[in-house]
Amino acid sequence: MTIEVQHIRKQFGQFTALDDVSLQFPDGQLTALLGPSGCGKTTLLRIIAGLEHPDAGSVLLDGHDASRRHVRERQVGFVFQHYALFKHMTVFENVAFGLRVKPRSERPSEAQIRAKVKQLLELVQLDWIADRYPPQLSGGQRQRIALARALAVEPRVLLLDEPFGALDAKVRKELRRWLRRLHDELHVTSIFVTHDQEEALEVADQVVLMNKGRVEQLGTPDQVYNQPASPFVYGFLGNVNLFHGRVREGVLASGSVELEAPQHANVADAQAVGYVRPHDLEVERYTPDAEGIVVTLRRAHAIGPLAQLDLERLDNAELIEAVIPNERYGKLALKEGEQLVVRPRRMHVFVDEGSNI
Ligand code: ATP
Repeated sequence: MTIEVQHIRKQFGQFTALDDVSLQFPDGQLTALLGPSGCGKTTLLRIIAGLEHPDAGSVLLDGHDASRRHVRERQVGFVFQHYALFKHMTVFENVAFGLRVKPRSERPSEAQIRAKVKQLLELVQLDWIADRYPPQLSGGQRQRIALARALAVEPRVLLLDEPFGALDAKVRKELRRWLRRLHDELHVTSIFVTHDQEEALEVADQVVLMNKGRVEQLGTPDQVYNQPASPFVYGFLGNVNLFHGRVREGVLASGSVELEAPQHANVADAQAVGYVRPHDLEVERYTPDAEGIVVTLRRAHAIGPLAQLDLERLDNAELIEAVIPNERYGKLALKEGEQLVVRPRRMHVFVDEGSNI
């Protein structure tokens, strides 16, 4: 099922939770709604589900206006962060619940219910705990059961609100890979809310970046990461170094250095900021004729395959972070306090709105 929201607005009193949001969710795709706390992700999800009504705008399901359709008629399945399974029912009965409460005319037979629940428990790889009760399960198992329960009624849309939010980092990682595999098997149009950028970039087909009730960008993980539409998107998707300066004739003059501004920077002559990811900085030992930004190594932290370097610019004392392969770090044999030269390999330049007003 395709989902489309058009010009959605939602106020809570004076507060604007959603401000003219228009988006398309293609059939069979997994979309992540990503953004900081309070940006309106959950509100948008609830409006799509029919649990909340927008002040303006519409929700289209398969091209038809669903605004007047009741939650039950929208054929959506939900999983929430603290999804309450029925404690007094076995895992089996929890998954069977949605089928048992169907109107008599649509209710499957007992044999069909048993077969369906068995199939779903196999799908989430938990058929071996069918007879247990929820308090006897781990958090990750509970979330998988919650998913099986949502899937039992064969929803045409699956809405997941921070489904793994309450779990520890390792289980979260496992479950998100598992969710991706499950989605590849079932192809149900799915939207999941997260404020974890890594989770969104790893799992989703498309990512919607939201900020203060508005959509900042919609794109594939590759697009939002490599072609960010705004400084907000760039900053939200990973660590970033900022080089403040002035762009003139394709060159960003920042402190005492000049950095070539990339083609995309549609900045003619203005105060601007160069955004550079820590791993997009080349690091060399200082030599008097080396071109780049001269820095002092303040601290090095080498763990696993990468080394993180905390650097201080010599010209303006601003701090910079660089991440280089540990192997290269070993070869450079760097010592704290030593001078180095760094050069951005890739940079995004945006007009510095703050300084141009
Ligand atoms: P989080 O990641 O923290 O869950 P979110 O992006 O999902 O945040 P929403 O839950 O959609 O954000 O809330 C958006 C804004 O609307 C928040 O500032 C919230 O306080 C406000 N809000 C949400 N529901 C209500 C309500 N029923 N009454 C008043 N304000 C509300």
